[in-house]
Amino acid sequence: MYVAIAAFAGLIIGSFLNVVIAREPKGESILGRSHCPGCGAQIRVRDNIPVLSWLLLRGRCRDCGEPISKQYPLVELLTAILYALIVAVHGDDTTQLVLDLVLVTFLVPITFIDLDVQRIPNVLTASAAVLGLILGTALDPGGEVERLIAGAAAAAFLGLPALINPKGMGLGDAKLTGVMGLYLGAAVAPAILIGLVTGVVVGIGVVAMRGMADGRRTRIPFGPFLSFGAVVAMFWGQAIIDWYLDTF
Ligand SMILES: [Zn+2]
Repeated sequence: MYVAIAAFAGLIIGSFLNVVIAREPKGESILGRSHCPGCGAQIRVRDNIPVLSWLLLRGRCRDCGEPISKQYPLVELLTAILYALIVAVHGDDTTQLVLDLVLVTFLVPITFIDLDVQRIPNVLTASAAVLGLILGTALDPGGEVERLIAGAAAAAFLGLPALINPKGMGLGDAKLTGVMGLYLGAAVAPAILIGLVTGVVVGIGVVAMRGMADGRRTRIPFGPFLSFGAVVAMFWGQAIIDWYLDTF
């Protein structure tokens, strides 16, 4: 029952995240009704139902027939699935439940904006950091020191190389890992490791497909990979840490 409510809430929030993803890179206000990017017609309320409207309209604007990106229903579905999984797995742990739900609400727009414009907006990482501090302190004051240390260490781990060599990892990535630490605590370590490994593997794949010269010029946005690592760590972070401590 709660999982179904979470999935429904995820669809609605995902629909709002689509607005953030479309407007933040252009510096537009996230308030106000949505318009078709093709003809500028205002989207009707009945055409604004998450996923369903896109399917009913067969991915086209009702007014001009211009295709509407598959990314819209994808973001809504992804947010719904993540919300449902978090509630199913962490439903009995209020602190982790709230922190994980809020974190994915930031990770989804960060991922799609970074893919789109190769930049992680400061307004998103800054709001996530402030909210993480407030929620963490309010829900679990005893664990806040660990999360602060994890956030600072994670930001420094990526931030120092970024300062030394600005061409590699960006400072936006370092701010993102800092935020992840504030929400995940010690589990940020496996999150970063998984993010870096998957990012590098995909990077090698890009070089292999496009050839060295072209591939090296393609900048891999690390935000989506770090976000992926964070989601994996939400569900298996503690298990990975326990396994590591037992093995070594
Ligand atoms: Zn249109």
